[in-house]
Amino acid sequence: MAGVLILGATGSIGQQSLEVLQNLKNRGYDLDLIGITAHKNRVLLEKQKERYRPRVAILTGQEAGPDQGIEYGSGALLQSIYRDDVDIVINGLVGISGLEPSLAAIESGKKLALANKESLVTGGPLINELLAKEGSGSLIPVDSEHSALYQLLQGHGKGDISSLILTASGGPFFFSSREEMEQITPEQALRHPTWAMGGKISIDSATMMNKALEVIEAYWLFGVDYDKIEVLVHPESIVHSLIRLEDGAVLGHMGIPDMKVPIQYALTWPRHEGGEFESLDLARVARLNFYQPRWADFPALELGYEAGRRGASMPVVLNGANEEAVTAFLQGRISFLEIASSVGGVMAAHDPYPLTDLQAVLEADKWARQKFEEEVS
Ligand code: NDP
Ligand code: MG
Repeated sequence: MAGVLILGATGSIGQQSLEVLQNLKNRGYDLDLIGITAHKNRVLLEKQKERYRPRVAILTGQEAGPDQGIEYGSGALLQSIYRDDVDIVINGLVGISGLEPSLAAIESGKKLALANKESLVTGGPLINELLAKEGSGSLIPVDSEHSALYQLLQGHGKGDISSLILTASGGPFFFSSREEMEQITPEQALRHPTWAMGGKISIDSATMMNKALEVIEAYWLFGVDYDKIEVLVHPESIVHSLIRLEDGAVLGHMGIPDMKVPIQYALTWPRHEGGEFESLDLARVARLNFYQPRWADFPALELGYEAGRRGASMPVVLNGANEEAVTAFLQGRISFLEIASSVGGVMAAHDPYPLTDLQAVLEADKWARQKFEEEVS
């Protein structure tokens, strides 16, 4: 019996995780839902509690409230990770709020199924340091590209790998002109062509900041230099990523875009279990297209490489400024193109320092958010 805790159960990843868990249980997997968390969405949390019967349900965006068998606050979330009956933690939280829970999961010896890429972007060195410690837990990526790479890399030594190729859908505006991009509204940016996701990652996909974060995520997950991480735009989102081998061969991972596949794989690794998954009909897809990124029109991507290469606190600053910029864009305070330019402005003002501990990460994050406010006000 393995106990599962789903952080961010009311979100896009969280809701799909609940479905996957149910499917695996129906197939005879000995999994037990220990806990679910939400931030503000009490109504859905209560419905999920009713339907899936976890042992604990936590609302983090409130410190107290009418009981209903619900626990409150981020302290309750952290405590739930340390429970003896929890073996697997699915982290579907959004933004840097996922970092401390990721560290706690690894520290307490749990298996961390990580969708929250911001954990690795902001706390990569801390996470890797913890993973290397004896008795600590393990990490398996849920992000579709990284799940693909994780699978592709099995059986290949580091010496075989010439580069990792992260595919990117390019988002809704990859074919838009510069003039059109000046007018983009939040409503348009939230409409992703191939994936149905939460608001923040949808905006990140539209600016290509999502791929910038994923480049840094890949660096920490796979220990490959930034020069060996390529980005390839592939609007159909059928090829989830590829690896280029030293002998010139390129191996890819293909499938219908469905986050339930990498979520399930993270739970069943190294097995590929069945489910209600649509099978890929390549003759029907007929055509797969690939493009170089439009670096100049989507400057967020270059900022990701720059932040990653400069290292230390710079990726934290990229992430913190971006979280603020996404919120400001959704509130109508800044334009679409100002998301990347304001993040670049905050980065330019930052003098990076080493990330010795969680406190250092949180300080850099706070600094970036304050600097962003100064930039745009
Ligand atoms: P959503 O916005 O849909 O869900 C986020 C979840 O986290 C919700 O349960 C939300 O609660 C909770 N939450 C929000 N803010 C906080 C906070 N400050 N503290 C604690 N909990 C909080 O996000 P997604 O599911 O789309 O994304 C989750 C993560 O997975 C992100 O890091 C994203 O980049 C990554 N990811 C997502 C993919 C997808 O297809 N959606 C694909 C690949 C990666 P409430 O509902 O109550 O607000
Ligand atoms: Mg992804």
